[in-house]
Amino acid sequence: MLKNRQENMEPSYSRVEAYCPNKCTNRYGDLLKTFVTTAHVAQEWIVNAHGHWEETKDDCSDVTHGPDIGNDWTCTKCGETAKFRGSTTSHRKILTD
Ligand SMILES: [Zn+2]
Repeated sequence: MLKNRQENMEPSYSRVEAYCPNKCTNRYGDLLKTFVTTAHVAQEWIVNAHGHWEETKDDCSDVTHGPDIGNDWTCTKCGETAKFRGSTTSHRKILTD
């Protein structure tokens, strides 16, 4: 279930491309294209009558907000803040749909 939801988020940034300004490469010499950023997820909890956590029912039952270029994306290799190229206007439009 979670996998499908993550796939559904992908078109959100299909028109923009993040890149490391230091042009980091992977072990094959290709430009590294993985970044660290924040996604907001929701968990389903079992709570007691006062709303205190008792048990986590589902580790990640929903993605409430996928990766956003408004947040920092950092290179997984050097930690540098990524830059973006492509149509950020389209990206914003999709995010608000
Ligand atoms: Zn880098």
